[in-house]
Amino acid sequence: MHDDRTLVEARLKRVLEERIRPAVYPESVPLTVSVWTAPGEPVPVAEGLAAPRSPIAVGDAWGAPWSTSWLTVAGTVPEAWAGRTVEALIDLGFDANMPGFQCEGLVYRPDGSPVKGLNPQNQWVRIAAPAAGGEPVLLHVEAAANPVILDYHPFLPTELGDKETAGDKPQYRLARMDLAVFDETVWQLVLDLEVLGELMAELPADGARRWELLRAVERALDAIDLQDVNGTAAAARSHLVEVLAAPAAPSAHRIGAIGHAHIDSAWLWPLRETVRKVARTAANMTALLEDEPDFLYTMSQAQQFAWIKEHRPEVYARVKKAVADGRFVPAGGMWVESDTNMPSSEAMARQFVHGKRFFLAEFGIENEEAWLPDTFGFTGGLPQIIRNAGSKWLLTQKISWSQINKFPHHTFLWEGIDGTRIFTHFPPVDTYNCSMKGSEIAHAARNFKDKGVARHSLAPTGWGDGGGGTTREMVGKAARLRDLEGSAAVRWQRPAEFFAEAEAEYPKPPVWVGELYLELHRATLTSQARTKQGNRRSENLLREAELWCATAALRTGLAYPYERLDRIWKTVLLHQFHDILPGSSIAWVHREAEATYAGLAAELEELIGAAQRALAGDPAGGRELVFNGAPHGRSAVPAGGAAVAVAGPGDCAVTAREGGGFVLDNGLLRVVVDGDGLVVSSVDAASGREAVAPGARANLLQLHPDFPNMWDAWDVDQFYRNTVTDLLAADEVAVHAEGPAEVAVRVARSFGSSTVTQTLTLRAGSGRLDIDTEVDWHEAEKFLKLAFPLDVHTERYAAETQFGHQFRPTHTNTSWDAAKFEACNHRFVHLAEPGWGVALATPSTYGHDVTRAVRAEDGGTTTTVRFSLLRAPRFPDPRTDQGRHRFRHSLVPGAEIGDAVREGYAVGLPERRVTGSAEAVRPLVELDQDALVVSAVKLADDGSGDLVVRVYESGGGRARGRLATSFALAAAVPCDLLERPWDGTRGEVVADGDGVRLALRPFELVTLRLTPAR
Ligand SMILES: [Zn+2]
Repeated sequence: MHDDRTLVEARLKRVLEERIRPAVYPESVPLTVSVWTAPGEPVPVAEGLAAPRSPIAVGDAWGAPWSTSWLTVAGTVPEAWAGRTVEALIDLGFDANMPGFQCEGLVYRPDGSPVKGLNPQNQWVRIAAPAAGGEPVLLHVEAAANPVILDYHPFLPTELGDKETAGDKPQYRLARMDLAVFDETVWQLVLDLEVLGELMAELPADGARRWELLRAVERALDAIDLQDVNGTAAAARSHLVEVLAAPAAPSAHRIGAIGHAHIDSAWLWPLRETVRKVARTAANMTALLEDEPDFLYTMSQAQQFAWIKEHRPEVYARVKKAVADGRFVPAGGMWVESDTNMPSSEAMARQFVHGKRFFLAEFGIENEEAWLPDTFGFTGGLPQIIRNAGSKWLLTQKISWSQINKFPHHTFLWEGIDGTRIFTHFPPVDTYNCSMKGSEIAHAARNFKDKGVARHSLAPTGWGDGGGGTTREMVGKAARLRDLEGSAAVRWQRPAEFFAEAEAEYPKPPVWVGELYLELHRATLTSQARTKQGNRRSENLLREAELWCATAALRTGLAYPYERLDRIWKTVLLHQFHDILPGSSIAWVHREAEATYAGLAAELEELIGAAQRALAGDPAGGRELVFNGAPHGRSAVPAGGAAVAVAGPGDCAVTAREGGGFVLDNGLLRVVVDGDGLVVSSVDAASGREAVAPGARANLLQLHPDFPNMWDAWDVDQFYRNTVTDLLAADEVAVHAEGPAEVAVRVARSFGSSTVTQTLTLRAGSGRLDIDTEVDWHEAEKFLKLAFPLDVHTERYAAETQFGHQFRPTHTNTSWDAAKFEACNHRFVHLAEPGWGVALATPSTYGHDVTRAVRAEDGGTTTTVRFSLLRAPRFPDPRTDQGRHRFRHSLVPGAEIGDAVREGYAVGLPERRVTGSAEAVRPLVELDQDALVVSAVKLADDGSGDLVVRVYESGGGRARGRLATSFALAAAVPCDLLERPWDGTRGEVVADGDGVRLALRPFELVTLRLTPAR
């Protein structure tokens, strides 16, 4: 037979596009439209409905950036349409290629009840089926003119990302506002032909099935009268029945599809718009669930449910009912889909606490899966947190975005730093916006790496970010793919059911140990430095507020601020969303985040101040008490307690150095600063060993050009390193403090349009050189690093993460090692040879890189640690990070890992001084083993008055110790993160009088509920 395959395929394409799809709506009449534009921010629904309208017509422009227009559409169903299915078609000026990234609408009935959302791929509103002729139609649309930020030419700087700079030029034109007859037979024919045509394209051209489909499609096309598609659609469909009924192969890949809309809690729109995006999508999805009995939908992020509850109670009522029916499935059990690299130990734990608690309280549902499809990499600390939250599974697809290495598994056990293993699935469809296209389904089946031993994968299906979620077309296609020869088999499935099935079929999955590093978006550890500092400051203040408020509550009876702490925690957790904390949102989001963090800081300072004043007693007592919120004692003040300040002798000295510069010495550390303000020597007295590599200079600021190929705020590409400018010239190097309590040298530099001032300080009794850097940053597309070339020979270094640290190589042996050229630390980086090491601590810098070189002169190894201070990408915020910044970085020579842990806490938790009458404040709990570190002291969230203390092993070894309470202890019970009694603790926890004996494994965390005797 002659090969006419491409001819028939081209015929299908044209006939579908030009004749069949247009025939879905064979008749239409225009609706009349009127409009009112809200003067500023969105208004309540009642106000929008009541506002006076003016006329507007199809073709007219509407919608200044970020404005809201209330449209009213009115008409009458023609008498001739009686008995037919009638829909309104409302095209606000959509670009169907951009679901989620442009204007959107929510349709209301005249009584204010929501109908459904309007999105680029979802423009219909069902009026009646069957319709009565002469029926009046009246609907209102709350239309949001969200501007396009990420356009066809992506990543161009734009002023549209903040209402303060976006201007008032209308962004859209009304395109179609009609009442139309919906021909369901033609609509079904479109889906038949799309499914078969897309499947056909994925099958081998020399296979029989492909040709069977081709001939069936040809017969269907022959049966269509192109002048009467509506009259012949049923006949055309009859030619497709047989090929659509042929069952899938027994070995076919099985896809559990779950309706989904990945909605970024803020990104290319502000938080307030996400509130509406979520409401529109939830309105769509509850409506679709009513229309489609097999369909199931999942939504993550407790915060988004909470928004609907607060702002759109009518939509929430529908959600609650669908959840109760088991068809709208809350997923993930976290407050938001957060970043996981940067949140602290406690914040990562609280993401689960607040997420799970919300789902339990609202729906009585406890999730067992962590749902993080889009998060930019996963720390080795996360598996233990997931397990301690009472969960056991993880889903993400993001690692498929890695630039260099292809991850070897789709279903596997992921092992964290403490040895906890979590059953993990990466959907091989490689997207969280599956649309049931044949190419996606075939890719999932082909791409699945665990073929032969496993057969199931998951496909989150639907348009996210305000695209409206799953469409009825996707549901129609999924129905045809349920059991279809040549295709993977698709059925709707809840995430928990998928995981249970996948786990059961794969008893010995492969294991991946350590972090799931995303080889992309590495600059999210640095962009928007003020947002990152706001996060860290809030985490530190929350630690202190919980500690001192709990101490004051138990000691003085001061009321514990449960509700305020709950609200503040949720605000901090929201801002850890994977486009806020990573710095990848528009200017508006980061401007608001800074203001929000400032408000939280003021509120937390107030709570801390009130608690400490209650503990310190009458200020007339005149004693200056030093409060220590860090987990280690310092300056004779116990951890978690307070003592009267004693001024140390102070023996710091600064002397001029021959040839320029200064020598700082405090008896523990001797630091030499040269005439350029760079550190040429740093020797700790205990070892007498030099930390700075011979011939090298530390505290070196380095400036790189930084213009990545894509994703400006997200990415730094490896080639940035090819060009570097060392900022050597100093405008001033001068003594800033002369002792004896502290000595400091101040260095001022200028470069480009920016200036930087650094203060290098050595304090009495401290083996730490503190470098405070103040930058007035006015660069574009540059990357500023602070380098410490160290004389250390090591193949790996440690970087702090949640409840411990993870190791990374200092070399680039493999492509996996080389790809980690920018990585995350929490409060320290530590590198060591046996017996001697160096720590670098920082309260707020997350990004860093570590490289090694062998010196020609002496054959020694120089290992260089560089902190990433600032970037200046121009998309999506054209003025990212412009202005003033302050950083602190500390060099601790002669540090073991325990010193790194201690100094890491200390730099972020300075002592506080309060005048009162008390002689001291004894800590509520004290530990006798330094490796056991307290990460939280708080009152139990249930209001029982119990004390909750979380402790972890911080050194990576085993640790035995005793936690002593300074109050009479009635009971001590190990708990999960939600503070429920839990028998999953692996180490030993034994009550012992007024204390608890602990024997923890490497990096193990344990949560204790301590009931005071009353
Ligand atoms: Zn996302």
